[in-house]
Amino acid sequence: MEFYKLSAKEIADGVRGKKWTAKEVLTSFLTRIKTCDSKLNAVVTLCEKNAHEDAKKLDEAIARGETLGLLAGVPFLVKDNFCTDGIRTTCASKMLHDWIPSYDATAIKNMKMAGAILMGKTNMDEFAMGNTTESSIFGPTLNPRDLTRVPGGSSGGSAAAVAAGYCPIALGSDTGGSIRQPAAFCGVQGMKPSYGQISRYGIVGYVSSLDQIGPITRNINDMAIVMDVLAKADENDSTCDAYDRPSFSAAVKKTDLKGKKIAVLTGFDKECVDKSLLDAINTTVQFCCEAGAEIIEVNLPTANKHAVACYYMIALGDASSKLACYDGMRYGYHEDGKNLFEMYKKSRNKGFGNEVRRRILIGTCILTRGYYENYYVPAVKVRQMIADEYADLFKTVDALICPISPTLPYKKGYVEDDSATIYLRDVFTSTANLAGLPSISLNVGFTPEGLPTNIQLLGPRFDDENLLSIASVIENYAGSPSVADLSVEGVL
Ligand code: GLN
Repeated sequence: MEFYKLSAKEIADGVRGKKWTAKEVLTSFLTRIKTCDSKLNAVVTLCEKNAHEDAKKLDEAIARGETLGLLAGVPFLVKDNFCTDGIRTTCASKMLHDWIPSYDATAIKNMKMAGAILMGKTNMDEFAMGNTTESSIFGPTLNPRDLTRVPGGSSGGSAAAVAAGYCPIALGSDTGGSIRQPAAFCGVQGMKPSYGQISRYGIVGYVSSLDQIGPITRNINDMAIVMDVLAKADENDSTCDAYDRPSFSAAVKKTDLKGKKIAVLTGFDKECVDKSLLDAINTTVQFCCEAGAEIIEVNLPTANKHAVACYYMIALGDASSKLACYDGMRYGYHEDGKNLFEMYKKSRNKGFGNEVRRRILIGTCILTRGYYENYYVPAVKVRQMIADEYADLFKTVDALICPISPTLPYKKGYVEDDSATIYLRDVFTSTANLAGLPSISLNVGFTPEGLPTNIQLLGPRFDDENLLSIASVIENYAGSPSVADLSVEGVL
């Protein structure tokens, strides 16, 4: 049985219906990972023993006739910044290379409670800073759609894993695009839910006011199921809202967009966006019209012009203060020194990689008196202006369509050359985080060379179910992406 081609729903239905066992499913996925990952490098830790134990318990529960959760027997992987009980959680950094948490993040607990089986941890940019998955102590992950290209980042390992058929579901975190951009680059679907939709308890933070976690899948129906499993209030995370969530899976049953008004973003420099990605937007607009939606064009001048600068001021300032806890004493990597100051300096210099150090330095500068008033405070104000711009837009429209990344997946090797160019590529994704909005990265096909094309959908805060519903209608037209063909270039 080619389990790797099935959706999470198909796998769970089969486990529940006793067509196959959780053990059979798990063994098949683990074999695929072990066969392919010496090339792709998407997985940094496998927890086979725990996974087999969990699968065994699940099969026993089925034999006893117990009712099982939505994801019964579905194997999944998570980014290596989710705390996993007894399993190392490194953030792809030397700083945490041997850190083993003593508890599971709430998201992991909820997945396990729904019957999903954790197989391991995926590669990422160090401390989730980046968009190529190249700044990892484990080395870069390759894009399964084209091994000469990056998978995007920072959740590049999770996106590559789903595209490669290692699992139907992987979880990632998104501070400025880190679920959506790698999903786009690897040709799968990714969602950053509204800020406050899912508990972040047990996630190693990057920027608390921007971080959100979410699913990467190959179809919107699976994504909605994961949302049903994860979107719940949590007493351990006060930023996670306590409202009664609707059924996300019920929301993705619609087949038309009648009565929906969808805006398309204009006002950005079209020269800077790859033509195939602009074509993807036009194709999507046609699908929406056919499905009965009304389309309008909008310009969001503040977001278009200031998002990247605003995002990096806030992100780097906050990250520099958040990462201060890695001081060589309390957590992680430690180097001895003549005195306390030297110990800090050596531990932090050697424990963090280049990009993380660069960001801590810039962030520290931004928070210094004088710079703080001139950079950080204005950025916070601009952030509110961007949020207001969207709030105004969503008074009259249901969703916004725009690009995810201005480019197709880049060739490997950008990070060390030129960070600023890479920062600018977060222009379309960082706004959803600044405004707390839900956003979906949707695959809408491939270029003739086989590179994924995609669009971004944004919606009003806490209207995640409507956004999923619109995405699923578009997906019905565009088709959901299949698993990458790994026989090319000798991966399989
Ligand atoms: N590329 C962005 C950054 O490097 C976003 C990262 C993320 O979402 N974690 O900050």
